[in-house]
Amino acid sequence: MVAVKTFLTEDEIPRQWYNIQADLPDPLQPPLGPDGNPITPDALAPVFPMNLIEQEVSTERWIDIPAGVLEVYNLWRPTPLYRALALEKYLGTPARIYYKNEGVSPPGSHKPNTAVAQAYYNKEFGIKRLTTETGAGQWGSALGFACAMYGLECRVYMVRISFDQKPFRRLMMQTWGAECVASPSTETSFGRKILEEMPDTPGSLGISISEAIEAAVTDQSGQTRYSLGSVLNHVLLHQTIVGLETKKQLQKIGEKKVDVVIACAGGGSNFAGLAFPFILDKINGAEMEIYPVEPTACPTMTRAPFVYDHGDTATMTPLLPMHSLGHTFIPPPIHAGGLRYHGMAPLVSQCIIENLITPRSYHQLECYKSAVLWARTEGFISAPETAHALACTIDEANKAKEEGKEKVIIMNWSGHGLMDLLGYDSYFSDKLHDYVLPDDELNNGLKALESFPKPAKMVRGKQVP
Ligand SMILES: *Cc1c(COP(=O)(O)O)cnc(C)c1O
Repeated sequence: MVAVKTFLTEDEIPRQWYNIQADLPDPLQPPLGPDGNPITPDALAPVFPMNLIEQEVSTERWIDIPAGVLEVYNLWRPTPLYRALALEKYLGTPARIYYKNEGVSPPGSHKPNTAVAQAYYNKEFGIKRLTTETGAGQWGSALGFACAMYGLECRVYMVRISFDQKPFRRLMMQTWGAECVASPSTETSFGRKILEEMPDTPGSLGISISEAIEAAVTDQSGQTRYSLGSVLNHVLLHQTIVGLETKKQLQKIGEKKVDVVIACAGGGSNFAGLAFPFILDKINGAEMEIYPVEPTACPTMTRAPFVYDHGDTATMTPLLPMHSLGHTFIPPPIHAGGLRYHGMAPLVSQCIIENLITPRSYHQLECYKSAVLWARTEGFISAPETAHALACTIDEANKAKEEGKEKVIIMNWSGHGLMDLLGYDSYFSDKLHDYVLPDDELNNGLKALESFPKPAKMVRGKQVP
């Protein structure tokens, strides 16, 4: 019988994260400050602890995972690698489909891989309390869980509309001891300003990020820092445990060649976690297709240019070189909340420029259709974000069938959808529709960037137009 799951023992868990900054054909361009000059690591010190800032700029290929992080990882890691036998049979594909189940963590997604590491490093640095923002609540609950593991206080600014409409993630945070406040709040001067201007605003991720950063940098005790769940280099680094485990598991079952790697991408950390260790093979000559998948409604990788832009709406963050729809862009209210972000991680963006990966986009309805097929074959109910990877996986499995090729397809199953069933309800009752961003709306979002410096597009040492 063919095995459905491949496990690693706790002894076999990788002891180091993989840093792709060591191997990218061209180095990342630096973040820029308000004056247009590269910022120094010191400038970030009020926001992040120095040990994480060091990781942010490190070009060491392998970075040791501290024992104190491994101890908490052991609660749910190593995660099983599944073979999607039932889906393969349903599709009649000769492809072998494997998926890494990151939904088995306590909060139910890949996000604690970095939340735990970030809480650990902050604790080591003497920090007592973390602030962050959350949209639908997945990141807030992951950080709430991580802070509970290390005895840190945690304050989460949750986008008002989700705070009101989605009580379950908020209750998870509360259960782990985190304080969750509706944003905009009266606790920060930025929040008070917004409330004065727009008392009935539903809030936005940009507003919440600004409040969380303000709360961290204005705390007079000096013992509060801010934590971000995606986009930054150190966040992507922590997620590479996913791809490194996957490689060990494939080796265990004798799969030597991977043909296709697929993961959904919001800020890019879930994709990077699975894909970066495989991109290393590709840089070293392996042939493989690597697909980050985004919603057609928020087409950061497939339609937005590579620019310098802020990570937040209030322009508090440095300018980062990335694919971006513009920091003022407000994505339509699709159900995959974790994929509604205007930018893409600089490291993932650079991989796109270097032609190492090929972005794809899918409509919401096809994603839900794929997630329902998945639930009725593989059993697991997927997060709406994960559903984007499923749609692409099913396409690739069908393509392998047409070509009559025994391809090996690897996918990151980023999280379960048990807290997201209202989205399924909307799908079943035909309330969802597809959304294509009109050109003029896309151009409007980009107008805010016209006066910013432009990053050079470097491909293997040469600038391209
Ligand atoms: C947050 C989230 C994503 C997107 O995360 P990024 O790492 O920022 O791309 C994908 N899937 C699930 C289940 C999530 O919670």
